[in-house]
Formats: sequence, C-alpha cells, structure tokens
Amino acid sequence: MDLSIKELKRHAGKTFPFAGEAELLPREGQEAALVLRARVGFRGEAVYRAEKVHLALKLRAEVERACSRCLDRFTETIEKEERITLREEREVGLADEDFAYPDEAEQISLIPYLRSLVFGSLGPKPLCRPDCAGLCPSCGANLNREEHRPLCPELTFREEKVDPRLAQLSKWL
Ligand SMILES: [Zn+2]
Ligand SMILES: [Zn+2]
Repeated sequence: MDLSIKELKRHAGKTFPFAGEAELLPREGQEAALVLRARVGFRGEAVYRAEKVHLALKLRAEVERACSRCLDRFTETIEKEERITLREEREVGLADEDFAYPDEAEQISLIPYLRSLVFGSLGPKPLCRPDCAGLCPSCGANLNREEHRPLCPELTFREEKVDPRLAQLSKWL
C-alpha cells in the first residue's frame, strides 16, 4: 500500500482517504521471537500540510504468536487508532514522535509505519492465557492439557514430599 507524496503535495490541504490490507512478516531476531506472522487491515486519511504528511489511521491486526511458556500458537488481536506525522528524513530529530520518509520521495509505502505500530505494541512475553501452566522442564508435558509423563522426576519429587511427621513414623514401623 503506497501513498503518493507527489499527489498529496500537489493538492496540499486536501484530504485523501485510503484503505488496504497487508501481511507483515517479522524480521529475523527479536521480532521473530515475538511474532510468527501478522495480517493487518487499515483505513484512514492523509493530508499534506505545513511540509508534513499527516495520517489519521485505524488498524486491526491479527497477530499469530507462540506462547512463551507452552509454545502453543495463538492469535492476538490489536486494534489501534493513531494520528501520525511523517516528515522528510532531513527534518527528523525535531520531534521524536514523528516518523520519517526519504527526502524527495514521490511514493512511500505504509508498511514500515504499520509494522512499527503493530509490532511496537506487542508485549515481550506472549502468553496463550494469563494462567498458562507451561511445559514441564523435565518431561516436556504441556501442563495445560496433560499430566507429567511416566518416569518424570517431578512425579517422584511429589511423592517424596510426604508429611515429615509421617516420614518419621514410617522409620519406626
Ligand atoms: Zn501457553
Ligand atoms: Zn514432568
């Protein structure tokens, strides 16, 4: 989804609606650990005023993630309504909250801005549900839906946790 800066500049002050859908792929590394894939639908308006592109944007993203405790896949929905300002790169630094586009660009893609709005709002520890029980570190069982596997040391450990008074007693028997 591209915006024509050229057109926006030519009709400075005029509002242009836009809408679209895009697939957002995470970059290798940190982002890939947070997101498997994401699909975003968006609509909004763009206007060029006072040397800047102003965007009013509404988006809804379905983000596929892997739970950080049990590794199950789940979908997180993100909805946002944002106003962002885009300036030519050489002007950036004046206001940190602004986004930049290459100097003299005639067309710009909205993808990088959508990416930072969507990926920037993801928590660092994805959870399939707040009380996810995770995987057993010893036997690998997914404790949300299965018991420890036979011979898992966690099982023996539990059996050993007998009431100490009973344990004392059993010495005398
Ligand atoms: Zn989980
Ligand atoms: Zn186990």
